[in-house]
Amino acid sequence: MTDLSLGGSAPAEADDGAWLACVECGATLAPFDGVVYRCPDCDGLLEARYADYPTFDDFSGEGVWRYAESLPFESGVSIQEGNTPLYEAPKIEAEAGVADLRVKHEGMNPTGSFKDRGMTVGVRVADELGVGRLACASTGNTSAALAAYGARADTPVLVLLPAGKVAAGKVAQAALHGARICEVDGNFDDCLDVVAELADRGEAYLLNSLNPFRLEGQKTIAFEMLEQSVAAHGEWPDRIVLPVGNAGNTAALYKAFRELVAAGEMEAGEMPTLTGVQAAGAAPMVEAVEAGADHVERWDDVETRATAIRIGNPVNAPKALPGIYDTGGTAVAVSDDQITDAQRMLAEDGIGVEPASAASVAGLLELRERGEVGPDERVVCLTTGHLLKDPDAAAEAGGDTTAVPADADGVLDAL
Ligand SMILES: *Cc1c(COP(=O)(O)O)cnc(C)c1O
Ligand SMILES: [Zn+2]
Repeated sequence: MTDLSLGGSAPAEADDGAWLACVECGATLAPFDGVVYRCPDCDGLLEARYADYPTFDDFSGEGVWRYAESLPFESGVSIQEGNTPLYEAPKIEAEAGVADLRVKHEGMNPTGSFKDRGMTVGVRVADELGVGRLACASTGNTSAALAAYGARADTPVLVLLPAGKVAAGKVAQAALHGARICEVDGNFDDCLDVVAELADRGEAYLLNSLNPFRLEGQKTIAFEMLEQSVAAHGEWPDRIVLPVGNAGNTAALYKAFRELVAAGEMEAGEMPTLTGVQAAGAAPMVEAVEAGADHVERWDDVETRATAIRIGNPVNAPKALPGIYDTGGTAVAVSDDQITDAQRMLAEDGIGVEPASAASVAGLLELRERGEVGPDERVVCLTTGHLLKDPDAAAEAGGDTTAVPADADGVLDAL
């Protein structure tokens, strides 16, 4: 049975008050003695645990490392990640008909997605472990972020991408930052199987969201969003709506809430409702939540325009499903057309996102329509990646260009 309870005293394996725990069997491990991704006893997912959890008063500075007191290190390999805007979105707020709607735009991170928050911590841990090569499987953004942070840390990076299924901006980033890019004849889940085997053979340090330290960085989204919400209107949000691929973010946000409960900052009943959104063509989490299941069944065939969440085997489901259930949340599937409509709607509020990110807004509108989200709710939609990540999708969703002669009258005639 999954055990996600925090607290209790540090085990003998702890290093400076930090350790790893298996979420399935409770086994505890030293955090930095060797490279480990899963529980050696039962293959369960691992989670970072601490002897003490900080309160909001313990945070200072800006960005991810503002939350250093909740992280295993004081500082990391940083290119000023985090500190992303929490936008108002008046048109979407009106369309959705909720009391308050904000958009937490993670596309405003250095490489254009929230993956940077995970990498600033994960690459720091890799340095601690003294590994010689960093690697990931990726639908695109993980590879872009790892390439940049690996370059910054002077460590070689290997990325495995599903051939032909990664948006142009993301491949370009990985290439320019100097990663070795291998295009795999398979989907993302196949890529992850291969890179996990390379990691098990000791060929590379794995920085997919299976890596518990990456999720430590990503949990700062929650701390930041809660602080920004209080600054904006004095309240925490009732609900957070986010796209789900590997469910790392869902797991990370839930961990942040559990830490705040452990620190005495939040009542368990005050956790914002975690609401996951998947594309209808890649929706194993939705299937699991609808069945009330505690695990997901892998989908072998997945397809969606939202390539960042084209994932059939969400590895963090054992951590994320309890988060959805404990916060009274849900999961919903949306069509590619709903995603594109939501991408246009965000654009009308001046917010440029890639398709996967727009799934959050599409999911909110769908749940409002079904009456599963109430009119008095304060909602934050998480938009995970920037518009320029997928220029082809943006161009397709946007208006056409007009050919004109090079004179003012010609332009006016064409309008
Ligand atoms: C990685 C990614 C996701 C999926 O996040 P998970 O934590 O794997 O669920 C969603 N949107 C974008 C843009 C991403 O890059
Ligand atoms: Zn275990």
